[in-house]
Amino acid sequence: MPNIKQRFATFAAESPLQLLADPFPERVDIKLFLKRDDLLHPLVSGNKWRKLKYNLLAAKEQEYDTLLTFGGAYSNHLYATAAAGQVFDFRTIGIVRGDELATAPRNSTLAFCEACGMRLHFVNRTDYRRKDEPDYLRELQNMFGTGYVLPEGGTNELAMQGTAEVVPEIITQLGQISDYICCPVGTGGTVAGLARTAPDQTTVLGFLSIKAPDFQLPISSPSVQLLTDYSFGGYAKTTPDLLTFIKTFERRTGVLLEQVYTGKMLYGIYDLARQGYFADGATVVAVHTGGLQGRSRALD
Ligand SMILES: *Cc1c(COP(=O)(O)O)cnc(C)c1O
Repeated sequence: MPNIKQRFATFAAESPLQLLADPFPERVDIKLFLKRDDLLHPLVSGNKWRKLKYNLLAAKEQEYDTLLTFGGAYSNHLYATAAAGQVFDFRTIGIVRGDELATAPRNSTLAFCEACGMRLHFVNRTDYRRKDEPDYLRELQNMFGTGYVLPEGGTNELAMQGTAEVVPEIITQLGQISDYICCPVGTGGTVAGLARTAPDQTTVLGFLSIKAPDFQLPISSPSVQLLTDYSFGGYAKTTPDLLTFIKTFERRTGVLLEQVYTGKMLYGIYDLARQGYFADGATVVAVHTGGLQGRSRALD
């Protein structure tokens, strides 16, 4: 049985950086690249792979055999953690928001988690809000056994160390510093990691996929801008306009997006580009953070 580092080495290569040759129907003079983190791993995809990596190594080093984490019913993080448990031999416990779901038929995300062996525990919204309280974590560990705790969305210090690695990869692949690096924002771990390693000449644009951040970003960098205009009404909300944009983008580029995160970011980048936000010739890198397990059937 290979150890965890050997297993990482088998499939955690860098993700490709792709220039979109003809992304705009009209003339827009920027060079738009996609950093294809969605291709990092077929199941532990995108930024969730980056965020789990050093946590999984720490959990193994500290000899945990169980991961315990939190998420909503459609959580990409729960999905990725369940898959990572399979790949790296951890038991996994998922605390899911919504006790009414316990008896409901499983959606595809939760069905996948269970198929990976994740034990799901459904809690009401009041309990779920206690997810970061030490007392509550102790209660859960008494119920399910000691586990390495990953917060909701997987965002912690080690997660940011993982997402920070995206920027030097981009610089090496581009052979130069990018003017802009863009990513979607949920809990903020991804954008905070990018901000750590982004050079001063790079502006990091975070596109909020939620209405208002319920977190304080651990960012002190002046080169980060959080954009709130492209949340389309809030987390997992969509509009016909957004879905049409995604379908058109997919047809034009051959790259699939989803409607919760990456579609909103790219909609925002296109909108800004058309308004002349980016200088002529600017290099714009959009991080494709994955999440395709949650892609809506309305996009097919
Ligand atoms: C979870 C997720 C995000 C949000 O990342 P945060 O680090 O929580 O801000 C963005 N894109 C995709 C596809 C995700 O699954």
